[in-house]
Amino acid sequence: MEKDLKSYTLPALQELIAEKSGKKFHAGYIFSFIHEKQHSRLEEITPVPEKLRNILSDEGFFISSLEILERQKDADSTEKFLFSAQDGSKFESVLLDDNGRKTVCISSQAGCRMGCGFCATAGIGFIRNLSSGEIAEQVYAAKRSAEKISNVVFMGMGEPFDNYENAVNAAIILNDSKGLGLGARHITLSTCGLIDRIEDFTQLDKQFRLAVSIHAGYEETRNKLMPINKSNPLAKLFAAVENYCRKTGRRVTLEYCLIDGINDSREEAVKFAQSAQRLKCNVNLIEFNPAGSLRFSAPKKGKTNAFADILRENGIETHIRYRRGRNIKAACGQLGAEWEK
Ligand code: SF4
Repeated sequence: MEKDLKSYTLPALQELIAEKSGKKFHAGYIFSFIHEKQHSRLEEITPVPEKLRNILSDEGFFISSLEILERQKDADSTEKFLFSAQDGSKFESVLLDDNGRKTVCISSQAGCRMGCGFCATAGIGFIRNLSSGEIAEQVYAAKRSAEKISNVVFMGMGEPFDNYENAVNAAIILNDSKGLGLGARHITLSTCGLIDRIEDFTQLDKQFRLAVSIHAGYEETRNKLMPINKSNPLAKLFAAVENYCRKTGRRVTLEYCLIDGINDSREEAVKFAQSAQRLKCNVNLIEFNPAGSLRFSAPKKGKTNAFADILRENGIETHIRYRRGRNIKAACGQLGAEWEK
């Protein structure tokens, strides 16, 4: 069982504390000291009896913390944090400022095993899953830098649905009114397309948002860019997302990274539009960001707008995302680029 108290949702903490002291209301104090007041030492949680604190520490329970190894700020005010966990695992998160609206893009794993061809994190390989506490702590670190966090997106290093339980529990912790109290609709979990976990997410009785990385119109194109497409092909992925939209009534965001000569043609746009049309969705187009040893490049001038026009002509709400934080390797697909061997 997890010993890091920061990784416990409130109901799980109540169950644990009821077992240790018979008084589950103490869990509320512990939870809010950790997640609202952001204390990281058990002895600081003075509203709970010393006896209970001693039982917890004697049994090895602790409150994890992260060390910030480096902070970099881009001229566009994007800020990148490099963290080290207690075992030395490193990962990054990014704080974006959009006219005062602060969004934190957090990591769910150290490294990633998905191997997407356009992503620097893939070059690191998989190191380990982050705990719910380590995921939530990235938001608290950003909050110490920005006064108010408006949105959290699980789009940093790693595949959140490959660490499903910890990622969802972190979202539940961030949403809890006894902690940060961030609205569920301001928390987005993204996936490169793990169909089974999308089905689990469809059943989850929470209002969190879903983003799915598509990056191709055709199966063959996606097979070349994303190894996950071999076991989770586009046709089945769109069916799972369609089911998600129908059952939850929620809109999904589709992410599409445009790469010169690979997936930015008119044919890819038309095929992608045909699939996306079936969904209640909006599309984010992102131009490829150079990183590490990746040999791709961004689309030629005018191609991104042409691609967007095709989607819009098909009635799909489409946004072209400005590439923020590129100078500090904090933009999409660039995390970890500086450590790539
Ligand atoms: S794009 Fe996301 S899922 Fe793909 S390798 Fe990078 S971090 Fe992993």
